[in-house]
Amino acid sequence: MVTGFTHALVTGGAGFVGSHVCESLLRSGSRVTCVDNFATGERDNIAHLLPDPGFALVEHDVTEPLDDLPVPDGVDDVDVVLHLASAASPRDYLRLPIETLRTGSLGTEHALDFAARHRARFLLASTSEVYGDPLEHPQREDYWGNVNPVGPRSVYDEAKRYAEALTMAHHRERGANVAIARIFNTYGPRLRAGDGRMIPNFVTQALAGEPLTVHGSGNQTRSVCYVTDTVAGLLALAAGTLTGPVNIGNPQELPVWRLADEVRQLTGSGSRVVRVDEAADDPRRRCPDIGLARTELGWRPEVTLREGLRRTIDWFAAHRAAA
Ligand code: NAD
Ligand code: UDP
Repeated sequence: MVTGFTHALVTGGAGFVGSHVCESLLRSGSRVTCVDNFATGERDNIAHLLPDPGFALVEHDVTEPLDDLPVPDGVDDVDVVLHLASAASPRDYLRLPIETLRTGSLGTEHALDFAARHRARFLLASTSEVYGDPLEHPQREDYWGNVNPVGPRSVYDEAKRYAEALTMAHHRERGANVAIARIFNTYGPRLRAGDGRMIPNFVTQALAGEPLTVHGSGNQTRSVCYVTDTVAGLLALAAGTLTGPVNIGNPQELPVWRLADEVRQLTGSGSRVVRVDEAADDPRRRCPDIGLARTELGWRPEVTLREGLRRTIDWFAAHRAAA
C-alpha cells in the first residue's frame, strides 16, 4: 500500500498493533518515528526495524509534552501522527488504571498539540469499547454506547471517549485535520503471551496442553480482525480526508467458546475448554457495522479467521520453541 506520507510519528509504536503500523509505513516508503515508554510494549516488537535508517525510536511518555524529540534528522517533516499509545488489554489497564486515564487524556492532548505544530494529520486509535455493553447491534458509528462510567473498565472506555471528544474539539475549534478509528478486537503475531486477552490466552494454553479458560458462559460474542487487515484500515483512513469516527473490524461474530474451540482444533491440542469466573462488566455482544469503511475507504478485511488463527498459532509456536 502506498500511503504517500513523508514522515509518520507513531505513538505506542512498540506495541502489538503499533509495531505492525510502523512496519507497514516503512514498507510504503515513509520515515517513521516511534514514540513509546514500553509500559505495555516490547523491544522485540521493533528490534528488526532499528537498523532501518528511516526508523527512529524515542523512549518517551506521552503524558509529557512531545517537544524537542531527539530524532537524528529532526521531525520538521512529520505529516501524520498515528496516536496508538494506550494500554489496551483489560489485564493491563486494570493494572494501570490512572496511567491509562492520563495517557488517554494528557497523552492525546500532547499528540494533538504536536500534530497542530507540524500541520500534520492526526489519527486517534479509539476502540469498540466506546460502545460499552451495546444495546444496539451491530454497532454503527452513530450509536452513542452504553458504558458504566464508574466500573473497572471505565478507565479505558472513558479515557477513549474523552480522547474522541478532545479530538473533535480540536477539529471544530481549531480546524485540526483529524480522524478517529474505532478498532474492534484485533489479533495476530506479537500479541503478548501474558497480556490476558482472549486469543493469546487460548493459543498459549492450547500449545501448552492446558485447559482453555472461557470466562462465564462463553456465549458473549466478539468479532476478531487479523492485524494486517486492521493496519490496512488505519492507514487507508490516515491517508484520506475522512474524520469519522470509522469502525475498523471484522464483522464475523462468534461466541467466545467457539473461538476457543477453533483454536483448540487448529492447534490439534488435547486441551479441554473450561469455564471460569465471568469478567466484570464484560460486554455481551460486539460486532462492527463496517458500511462506512467499505464505502468511504474502499476497505474490508481479507484474512479469514482460520488463516489468521493459523498464522498467529505458528508465530506463538515458533516463539515458544525459541524460548
Ligand atoms: P499494546 O499494549 O500492545 O500497545 C500499546 C503501546 O502503547 C505499548 O507499546 C505501550 O508501551 C505504549 N504506551 C502506553 N502508554 C504510553 C505512554 N504513556 N507513553 C508512550 N507510550 C505508551 O496495545 P495494542 O493492542 O497494540 O493497542 C494499540 C492501540 O490500539 C491502543 O490505543 C488501543 O486502545 C487500540 N485498540 C487496540 C485493539 C486491539 O484489539 N488490539 C482494539 C481496539 C483499540
Ligand atoms: N476471555 C475469556 N478467556 C480468557 C480471556 C478473555 O473467555 O482467557 C473473554 C473475555 O471475558 C471477553 C472476550 O474473551 O468476553 C474478549 O476478551 P479480551 O480480553 O480479548 O478483549 P475485550 O473484548 O474484553 O476487550
